[in-house]
Amino acid sequence: MNMQNTTAIPSYLSIESLGPWATYLTQIERVTPYLDKALLPWVETLIRPKRALIVDVPIRLDNGVIAHYEGYRVQHNLSRGPGKGGIRFHPEVTLSEVMALSAWMTIKNAVVNVPYGGAKGGIRVDPKKLSMPELERLTRRYASEINILIGPDRDIPAPDINTNEQVMAWIMDTFSMNQGRTATGVVTGKPVTLGGSLGRHDATGRGVFICTVEAARRIGLSIPGARVAVQGFGNVGEAAARLFADAGAKVVAIQDETGSIFNPNGFDVRRVHRHRIETGQLAGVPDAEAIDAEHFWACDVDILVAAALENQITEHNAPAIRARILAEGANGPTTPEADLILQDNKVLVVPDVLANAGGVTVSYFEWVQDISAFFWTEEEINSRLDRIMRDAFAAVWDAAQNKGILLRTAAFVLGCERVLMARKLRGLYP
Ligand code: NAD
Repeated sequence: MNMQNTTAIPSYLSIESLGPWATYLTQIERVTPYLDKALLPWVETLIRPKRALIVDVPIRLDNGVIAHYEGYRVQHNLSRGPGKGGIRFHPEVTLSEVMALSAWMTIKNAVVNVPYGGAKGGIRVDPKKLSMPELERLTRRYASEINILIGPDRDIPAPDINTNEQVMAWIMDTFSMNQGRTATGVVTGKPVTLGGSLGRHDATGRGVFICTVEAARRIGLSIPGARVAVQGFGNVGEAAARLFADAGAKVVAIQDETGSIFNPNGFDVRRVHRHRIETGQLAGVPDAEAIDAEHFWACDVDILVAAALENQITEHNAPAIRARILAEGANGPTTPEADLILQDNKVLVVPDVLANAGGVTVSYFEWVQDISAFFWTEEEINSRLDRIMRDAFAAVWDAAQNKGILLRTAAFVLGCERVLMARKLRGLYP
């Protein structure tokens, strides 16, 4: 998108600070020619977040000092329902990043057809430097600051990087205290004892796995024996790696923020996970060769799962990637420049807005269960997740085949058209 004269840059962002929002704008620019012409008058709605809230989050540290952190909650689009999207605690969180993540939630929720708009939140903080009581105070103050936006029928947060079930429990409790009633449906990804859903922990990794199996089947790649590399070994990456290993694939390379390890015979993923929890690093896993990041990307694998952060696959490392399938467990891991290189090199990219939608799908199940106060078995959850992911994959795949476009473009066409149709039907107020 032409950054010089577009109206797509909100006045609160400078061109220099665009970051992931620029990636999103390029994606919308690439998809626009394929959208239903009748919806084009509404397309600008996709490049203008509905609301962006910036909050100051002051807390008293354990040593008595008052520290201030900057937090955000962005509701990108609410045309199809309440906002939905995670909360990230990370030292590099910016408004641009949260805006992009909220926009990807809008598209993702529409691709899997759950009745939500897109939202996202975050605090620029390194939570690893905070004690547990400090983290609780930070979370509760942030929850109070964004209280004006969230609610079970308004905007429903969930976990993202460095936030977990405990953080969701604190947000649920803070919101409930402010309301004077217990409101379990205000967040998803809660502990099961507080109205959380069975199957939520593995849901995103499971969705990545299901989409990759569907893609592999269509290009004649067998999962048993396939070699897999996984970047990011957290909630998403670990679950995906475990499911691939359980299905007979060989997880030969793993990278996280502490380093990269390689084993040509495939890792025992559960053992690596135990080692990571016990030692805090990947180094030292039995039978693992430590490799550098350059080698990680160039590994001779069939499937690469990107499940860490955005902007990991760029024009610098994309040429080295030899995988037949890249599954985007993370949000926005591939830059637009890298996308073109992967396309030239015939790497099939299963895009984030499809591949990692398993998490929000089971979050939707959790919200439905909370509202109806009736809880499902894990088998019911996994089988409904399986059906939704397979149907979404098939819809995106068929659209890509019919129109001769990439899976990312096809997923965006599907998602954007659903959002824009809702927008058009609702009309302009007043
Ligand atoms: P997490 O905090 O559990 O794990 C993040 C992982 O990435 C960790 O293993 C960390 O070591 C690794 N990492 C961080 N920086 C890295 C770097 N520079 N190089 C290599 N590895 C690095 O987070 P998560 O919930 O697994 O989320 C991972 C990605 O998946 C994010 O992009 C998130 O937005 C996306 N996502 C998560 C969910 C979910 O349900 N948790 C749903 C959809 C998308």
